[in-house]
Amino acid sequence: MKKISDIGEFGFIDLIKKQIGSSSIIKGIGDDTAVVNFSADKYLLLTTDMLVEGVHFTRAMSAKAIGHKAIGCNISDIAAMGGLPKYAVVSIGLSGNLSIKFATDIYAGMNQLAKKFGVVIVGGDTVKSSKLIINVALTGEVKKDKVVLRSGAKKGDQIFVTGALGKSFSSGRHLTFTPRLLPSQYLVKHFKPTAMIDISDGLAADLGHVLEESNVGAIIDEKCIPRHQGASFNNALHDGEDFELLFTLSRAQAQRLKSKKDFKFYHIGEITSDKNKLRLIDKFGQSRILGQKGFVHF
Ligand code: ADP
Ligand code: MG
Repeated sequence: MKKISDIGEFGFIDLIKKQIGSSSIIKGIGDDTAVVNFSADKYLLLTTDMLVEGVHFTRAMSAKAIGHKAIGCNISDIAAMGGLPKYAVVSIGLSGNLSIKFATDIYAGMNQLAKKFGVVIVGGDTVKSSKLIINVALTGEVKKDKVVLRSGAKKGDQIFVTGALGKSFSSGRHLTFTPRLLPSQYLVKHFKPTAMIDISDGLAADLGHVLEESNVGAIIDEKCIPRHQGASFNNALHDGEDFELLFTLSRAQAQRLKSKKDFKFYHIGEITSDKNKLRLIDKFGQSRILGQKGFVHF
């Protein structure tokens, strides 16, 4: 019998997508959050992310930072849609031998970031589990004309990222990052991004998701891709967990953005008509096709 590891994370998600089928929602599986009708002028956004001990964190790490990450990656997904985060429910699986301090520190870390971004934790669930598991589900809202999907990138659009990439896990940044809600709000207020995603699986894989959903290709320039100190180009492309935003803008809007100083945005490439092909101009000026593999869970 075929196992999950035979089809991988995205093969599994594709299977579920087929099983659930289509419905009248605006966007189901296949973006950073689901998008459903809410009111005359707003959509409701829904997202959830689970962290598992031994996969995403260990107990040697700071409990506050684990809590920060658990809610931070959800806020990042809402930011990637151009939305504002609102209400969270938190489910936790823990063993009886976990110290009360560790458990409450997880919530202290969560609450600190929640407050900073206007999120209210309104409930959850608690179960017994030998491994510590934290699942956060978060709602958000967005004006209907401001929502940004992965699927709107057009040939000639310019590709930007909000910050440096690479070595997030080994440096500990994956636990302490700031979700890019403020740059996202700035962008949707003053510009019209055609597509947006947060970089959780790695630049190559997440740009790959935009290309797939938008039915386009891209060319990126190695020398323009911002990297953290000590991160190789390969780290920047594939490490993941950076939680920076990647977005696309029309040529005219890209020009305008580059003249602004409010936030730092990095111009890394351009959308092409070469469907699902990610092309790289390397540091020697040579052009070649890149694989889109990011971090693979199975
Ligand atoms: P992200 O990295 O932005 O959190 P994922 O790669 O985890 O997104 O998920 C991609 C898409 O697949 C999302 O639309 C998500 O809701 C959906 N998805 C992932 N796992 C499941 C699942 N077990 N059941 C239903 N939908 C899922
Ligand atoms: Mg995401």
